[in-house]
Amino acid sequence: MLRLMSRSTDDNDLRRKRFLALFDACQALSASLVLSEVMELICTGVGKAFGLSYADIYEYSAERDELMVIWSFAPEHPAAAAGFVGTVYSLADHPAFRRAFDEGQVVEYQIDDDELVRTDPQLHEQMLGWGEKTIVEVGLRFGDTTIGLLSVGSTGEALRFDDEEKELLIAFATTAAIAIHNARLYRAIEEQAVRDGLTGLFNHRAFYERLAAELTRSRRYGHPVGLLMIDIDDFKGFNDRHGHLAGDEVLRAVARILVADLRREVDTACRYGGEEFAVILPDTPLGAGAVAERLRGRIAATTFAFGDNDVDTVTVSIGATTFPGPADTADALVVVADKALYAAKAAGKNRVVVAPGAG
Ligand code: GH3
Ligand code: MG
Ligand code: MG
Repeated sequence: MLRLMSRSTDDNDLRRKRFLALFDACQALSASLVLSEVMELICTGVGKAFGLSYADIYEYSAERDELMVIWSFAPEHPAAAAGFVGTVYSLADHPAFRRAFDEGQVVEYQIDDDELVRTDPQLHEQMLGWGEKTIVEVGLRFGDTTIGLLSVGSTGEALRFDDEEKELLIAFATTAAIAIHNARLYRAIEEQAVRDGLTGLFNHRAFYERLAAELTRSRRYGHPVGLLMIDIDDFKGFNDRHGHLAGDEVLRAVARILVADLRREVDTACRYGGEEFAVILPDTPLGAGAVAERLRGRIAATTFAFGDNDVDTVTVSIGATTFPGPADTADALVVVADKALYAAKAAGKNRVVVAPGAG
């Protein structure tokens, strides 16, 4: 009797600790809008509360009907957890995941479950290979949709969740799904604020922010920054000939050429306004003028097709400058590049002019 009572006190103590740990994680989740932070909090929160060997988040793609691992927490095997991210499970091949996904219940499999061996031998093999005793899956539900799975497990002792613990896990998964949803929404809104709606390039405001940031970096580390101002030649005439929608298509196509030609994650292509683009080129060994000349050539060589077999070409004029060089601030640098652009227009268009004094 005494033994039973003391066990139940231990049990209650453990439950209380779990509940508090999850409650703490929920509070932290409700205060964060950074997606990576949210996912880390979900996995560490549930992992620590239940003393798990790992906790993973799988994202569902309705288009492909599959789950992809987008976050993994395995305190004893951090490298394995990092490598696991990106793994894809097709729901058609994994009835064990399908069940958890469809049912909205906590689904628990022990390594020796006949049902698991029979219905999802691949997953069973994986558990054997990784020494997992138990896996527990719970759907990340948000309203009527399930956005993914929270997958937790143990390689040490087998886990057995009782009904109360399952309820706790479901409640936590709901909070987790809402937090993921909010963080995604926030990221999308942030992204919209810096993007141009037509071309998807950075907008005018983002251009100035980026340029100022690059100049600050340049002052600190000493590498040069190139700046191009690009304007489509005789675009008014193009619109008049083919219509405004065709003109919009060309703006999108020019944006795609810029993005494809420039260095990903390094250079920044922006829609400065109307049919003008701006490009920031940090540390370009080739020189801003040479990059400008390459872009000009690519655009001039492209045939744009639209409407009913309508085709045409466009050319651009480009003003190029560098920092350090003829100007000290972002605004002054834009003025210098703009002057070079107008010199290119005045000299007959479809050409590049490098500002005097630019390297
Ligand atoms: P220039 O060679 O001197 O640059 O001549 P231009 O005709 O390109 O220059 P102008 O500034 O006179 O006209 C710019 C044209 O660009 C007029 C405007 O209709 C067109 N334009 C600006 N923004 C957009 C847009 O978002 N979509 C379309 N289709 N056209 C646009
Ligand atoms: Mg213009
Ligand atoms: Mg123009």
